[in-house]
Amino acid sequence: MSEQLINLAYIVAAILFIYGLKQLGSPATARRGNLLSSVGMLIAIVVTLLSKQILEFEWIIGAAAAGALIGFFAARLVAMTSMPEMVALFNGSGGIASLLVGWAALYNVGNTTFTVVTIFLSILIGGVTFSGSLVAWGKLSEVMPSKAIVFAGQRVVNGALLIAIVTAGVMFCMEPTIMSYEFMAVVVLSLILGVMVVIPIGGADMPVVISLLNAYSGLAACAAGFAINNNILIVAGSLVGAAGMILTNIMCKAMNRSLANVLFSGFGAVKTATKVEGEVKPIVAEDAYLILEAASSVTFVPGYGMAVAQAQHVVRELGELLEANGADVSYAVHPVAGRMPGHMNVLLAEANVPYDQLVEMDDINPRIKNIDVAVVIGANDVVNPAARNDENSPIYGMPIINVDHARTVFVLKRSMAAGFSGVDNPLFFGENTRMLFGDAKASISAVIAQFKG
Ligand code: NDP
Repeated sequence: MSEQLINLAYIVAAILFIYGLKQLGSPATARRGNLLSSVGMLIAIVVTLLSKQILEFEWIIGAAAAGALIGFFAARLVAMTSMPEMVALFNGSGGIASLLVGWAALYNVGNTTFTVVTIFLSILIGGVTFSGSLVAWGKLSEVMPSKAIVFAGQRVVNGALLIAIVTAGVMFCMEPTIMSYEFMAVVVLSLILGVMVVIPIGGADMPVVISLLNAYSGLAACAAGFAINNNILIVAGSLVGAAGMILTNIMCKAMNRSLANVLFSGFGAVKTATKVEGEVKPIVAEDAYLILEAASSVTFVPGYGMAVAQAQHVVRELGELLEANGADVSYAVHPVAGRMPGHMNVLLAEANVPYDQLVEMDDINPRIKNIDVAVVIGANDVVNPAARNDENSPIYGMPIINVDHARTVFVLKRSMAAGFSGVDNPLFFGENTRMLFGDAKASISAVIAQFKG
């Protein structure tokens, strides 16, 4: 295939990526956007395989088949609740792939200084993304503690690590030989840096690190694209990198933190929230039904517990019953609810909740005091008033959905346990709060049974 034809096909693929990404901006067009981008990727892959640089196909076909099989079964078998961990592993796979592409590019003859620098960058960013994503996976799956891991002298260690990487990088770029000490130092130190960057981030700050690792995986691919001089890899990598950076910015805004603060302060490492005490007022499904039946406006506030309980379908069913009963129903989604960006939107879309009933935090908060009942379904940190009121709280300053300002709040959860950040929640003791204890799906089903019965 001629060079011109390849680049033309790459331009078509790039347009499909960009147009697809744009369509991902709204739930109504997201499926089509995903499809368009996938077609773009298919074109990119096929055209690359037809290019003259490919000398033999056996390894490529074998690896593609193995990867497709692993991906297919992993995606089929993964529990919906483990999706965030899977996304973390996907980011990590992108990172290690870029590291390996950079490594392989060293075997090319006639690498220029520029190419060698991009090889170094793809190994560095790829390595950080890989090991950082593994730590993020560990924290999300609670294989390791989700809270920030900090120790005395951490900044000095990190500083020394950075200096060592830059030194090894400069030496490597001056004499780029495979399996030299400089090369091995770059690989090993990058992997250590990834671990060191992610361990001090914990609790409520994790969404930022997840989106940042996503951005890194794109930047690593972009560097790998330069290393092997492949235009579509450069374009795709830049798109993922830029999209990840924008998402990181959105997540920082959602937590009201600067990126530097998230990366260097160690969530909750220094602050201890004021102890919360008070009287808890439990409610049973029968009484919850009576209040809901009389309500003229109800907003559901989903959180990670809805994903655990897989309650999204029964929530939609209850929403429909309430609407049929004359209530105004909405679903208020906090940007960091759940365990991955967009987690709640995915679940609610899966349950066919109408898009126009989804409301963002900034839209619901000004009118929440006029809502009769706010039903909190397995959300905790994102509705914790300590973020507003307790200056000592590690989550102080994080914008929340002010469910405590609604006329009545139902909190559906199994116990008095804290959320992902480990911070106690004074909402549970609020004057207007009623705790509906139990698995969220079972609790909602019990309320539905009352409606139908
Ligand atoms: P939280 O993790 O704060 O709270 C979830 C609550 O759900 C728990 O308190 C738990 O209480 C309850 N729960 C668990 N299982 C069930 C069940 N079967 N039925 C009913 N309730 C259940 O969730 P939020 O969504 O409020 O907040 C998300 C947190 O995760 C934030 O701190 C955010 O920063 C962080 N995070 C977000 C990411 C993102 O990208 N969105 C990524 C990583 C972290 P109990 O055990 O008593 O039932």
